[in-house]
Amino acid sequence: MDIMYKKKNVYASATAEERKRIADYCEGYKKFLDAGKTERETVAYSVAMIEKQGYKPYKLGDKIAKGAKLYYNNRGKGLFILRAGTADIAENGVRILVAHVDSPRLDLKQVPLFEKSDIAYLKTHYYGGIKKYHWHTIPLALHGVVALKSGKTVNIVIGENDADPVFYITDLLPHLSQELNTKTISEGFQAENLNLVIGGMPLDGEDKDAVKKGVMKLLNEKYGIVEEDFLSAELEAVPAVKARDVGIDRAFIASYGHDDRVCAYPEITATLESNTKQTVLTILADKEEIGSEGNTGMQCVLISDLLDEIAKSYGVNPAVLRSKSACISADVTAAYDPAFASAFEEQNVGKVNCGVGMNKYTGARGKSGSNDASAEYIARLRAAFEKAGVVWQTGELGRVDLGGGGTVAKYIAKINIDTVDMGVPVLSMHAPYELVGKADVYEAHKAFAAFIE
Ligand code: MN
Ligand code: MN
Repeated sequence: MDIMYKKKNVYASATAEERKRIADYCEGYKKFLDAGKTERETVAYSVAMIEKQGYKPYKLGDKIAKGAKLYYNNRGKGLFILRAGTADIAENGVRILVAHVDSPRLDLKQVPLFEKSDIAYLKTHYYGGIKKYHWHTIPLALHGVVALKSGKTVNIVIGENDADPVFYITDLLPHLSQELNTKTISEGFQAENLNLVIGGMPLDGEDKDAVKKGVMKLLNEKYGIVEEDFLSAELEAVPAVKARDVGIDRAFIASYGHDDRVCAYPEITATLESNTKQTVLTILADKEEIGSEGNTGMQCVLISDLLDEIAKSYGVNPAVLRSKSACISADVTAAYDPAFASAFEEQNVGKVNCGVGMNKYTGARGKSGSNDASAEYIARLRAAFEKAGVVWQTGELGRVDLGGGGTVAKYIAKINIDTVDMGVPVLSMHAPYELVGKADVYEAHKAFAAFIE
């Protein structure tokens, strides 16, 4: 028995076979990333994955049979996957895994279209925590829905096929940036300048707003929408890039939206591969990046409603069920970045390819707003992970008092369920193109699988 704690790199003891298993697993993950760049697309792709395995839609109020495989699609933006187990839920509760599938991006405003100096633009309102300068001069795709008064919904994806046009936000040339360079980043890069170039050809015979009218005519021909329909649309500008291996040894994956699809995918694969007798509720949540608000975020009572339905169906007191349940809030953690070493405290932060990270606490300024999981709960998980050979490490968002952040953990803990944050360490978190280590994605899958056993 080693009396000293040591963090280890997953590859340090990995056989050739294990390295191949990690690489192969991540091929599925890259497909998942490219197929779902928005919460709606990820939910749709996940529903297709689980339906193949026999999961059936569930309606609130329906009785849940032991052994049933069900899912509840929350408005196309959130998903609850339920494996109704045969184990005694009055004793074992429900194993809950929650990841979120919304990512930082630029949402279109409700009246987005305007023209200036012969260029047509779309106005945006950013969603989640972004560094605004990242979004200038990169190819952007537009994804989302336009809900029509008729009740019909038009799906739009422009910019993902190589033949598609993309959208673009300009930046000032360095030759003329002497003034800009003296400003702070937040002064120099303003949210109201995040406007997407959408067109440049004036409509024949028009003299006012001719380019804007030209754009609207094309949108009308292709999608049957008029300008007023933007009022009831959810259109998201996301990077028009695909997930790619990084490094000559392919140790990393760069992609848009690792936060938090990099936990959503392992959650789903762990759930689908498991033969557990436990009852498992696997959740893909929306709205985490803006505080888990709204009826598709984890502050919504829907999770309690579903747990109540399980309790009712099994004839168990719902309060007892919750008190016996356990949750992993599966969300990414910051990876130590040697280029910005002073932002981290090296001994406690997660390191890339050193396993899935566990954040006992998140929060800011003295753990404020944090769930801060119990030592006893972490000890239980330590034992389960050791038994399953999971490589895991501690995570801490960064140097104390430098900043901070939160997850959905506290909303689950609030309904009397033991909860801890676990997830993959990410480099350049919240950038349009984030970086993760493949070994950590695989260890997340192993950890979640061990948790639901
Ligand atoms: Mn996250
Ligand atoms: Mn985030």
